[in-house]
Amino acid sequence: MNNPLSSSRENSASVATCANSFDASPVSADTGSAFAPHAVDRLRQFCESQSTRVFNARGIALQRCPSCMLGHNTCICAWRKPTASTIDFVLLMHRDEVYKPTNTGRLIADLYPDQCQAFLWDRTRPDAELLALLDDPGRHCQVVFPPRDRETRIIETQVGAPDNQRRPTVILLDGTWKQARKMYSQATWLRALPVLDLTDAMTELDQQLGHYKVRQACETGRLATAEAAALCLQAAQDQANVHHLLNYFTVFNEHYVATRMNRKPARLKAHCDLENSQ
Ligand SMILES: [Zn+2]
Repeated sequence: MNNPLSSSRENSASVATCANSFDASPVSADTGSAFAPHAVDRLRQFCESQSTRVFNARGIALQRCPSCMLGHNTCICAWRKPTASTIDFVLLMHRDEVYKPTNTGRLIADLYPDQCQAFLWDRTRPDAELLALLDDPGRHCQVVFPPRDRETRIIETQVGAPDNQRRPTVILLDGTWKQARKMYSQATWLRALPVLDLTDAMTELDQQLGHYKVRQACETGRLATAEAAALCLQAAQDQANVHHLLNYFTVFNEHYVATRMNRKPARLKAHCDLENSQ
């Protein structure tokens, strides 16, 4: 998605100079099978089982890796390093988003499979499991959206509850900006939740955000879902995961653009950093 938190910059990720020089064929085609299906994979499988139409993604003739949805020659699975985060993520996905190779919500599930849940957006009939999660007294759930309606919403600036006793859980609205705005404004069942104001985190991370080239032309000034998640991690002072997620996001961007341009991905510092991570 392109999350509505504003920022727009060209990708400034530098070309890597690490000793491990870039092999033009970065990964084998079979690495996708090494991972168990995560929440986004399971949601897509569910949607496919229900759908009577085929979603015609751009480049439908491309042979895609079943895990990262990129082309086999530009697969990013070799840089996918699952780990743990200080916060849990809930993706509320627009149905269209589930099928899009450009979706970056799945990058969050790739890295934090045990801490990322995904649900289909439904304005009037939200999933019962989702409602139970939002009501869970062991969690502190916060919606990520620019807090423009301060008079009618509870606005919070810290990730998680002040007492730190409950699991910090952020709700990310995964759709186009227009879809996300509707999700936010039209769902009565979301209105009781506090909204997380990430203004400070955005200031701190400003130089690194807005790298999402894939949809930049039509969504200038918006952040991708993965970037919004990185902002949440920044607000939670989880620096290691901020870098981990943004590096993976940078690799995704480079490989996606390479797929579209039918060229080999450039090797970036982000590749090296991910390879050197635990
Ligand atoms: Zn892959």
